[in-house]
Amino acid sequence: MAHPDDPEMFCGGTIALLTRRGLQVSYVLLTSGDKGSDDRTVTNQGLVQRREEEQRAAAARLKVAEVVFLHHPDGELEDTPNIRREIVREIRRFRPELVLSTDPARIYARGVNHRDHRVAGILTLDAVFPGARNHRYFPELLSAGWEPHAVKEVWLAGPHEPDLEFNIDAVYDDRVAAVACHRSQIGDLDKFYQRVKENREKQEGPMTEKFKRLRFG
Ligand SMILES: [Zn+2]
Repeated sequence: MAHPDDPEMFCGGTIALLTRRGLQVSYVLLTSGDKGSDDRTVTNQGLVQRREEEQRAAAARLKVAEVVFLHHPDGELEDTPNIRREIVREIRRFRPELVLSTDPARIYARGVNHRDHRVAGILTLDAVFPGARNHRYFPELLSAGWEPHAVKEVWLAGPHEPDLEFNIDAVYDDRVAAVACHRSQIGDLDKFYQRVKENREKQEGPMTEKFKRLRFG
């Protein structure tokens, strides 16, 4: 995904469900969120350090095994072969059955879906298929020992056309606690918890997270 906080904001409940089942989950973040603050007294480097710490804390809260930061500039993600190669390398390293990313087809919902989310989605899809599984893509990775790997499924969060939905009631508090680790993004904690409470009360039926599911034969 693009930014620190994206995993928790988009699908923290689902990640909690996966790790509760004993599945190993790792994050690969393309940026470290260096544009995610209006505070002019904070340097970009200071923000990166803070957001990476917040992301590691949130990941630990959801029992995520490892967090990798690729350190591309926030807000400037482009669909380039270099970034695609890096994602292919991470897929060949972690060798996941399932990859979660953000849906590139969703340009807007209530507001604009951040360009980085869309670009991260398209980069990830193209890295999964066919980049990671075909040894002829990025032969320099093969020379470096990164053998091809075929991902079985991709779930796209924030989906334009959802076809997969999880009830996250059982892990909702874990999700909220993980989102709350991103203090630089949520501001006042009391107000945050108040908003969470109101949203939950407004919700008819269970809290859910939705995805577009892609399966590769
Ligand atoms: Zn984001």
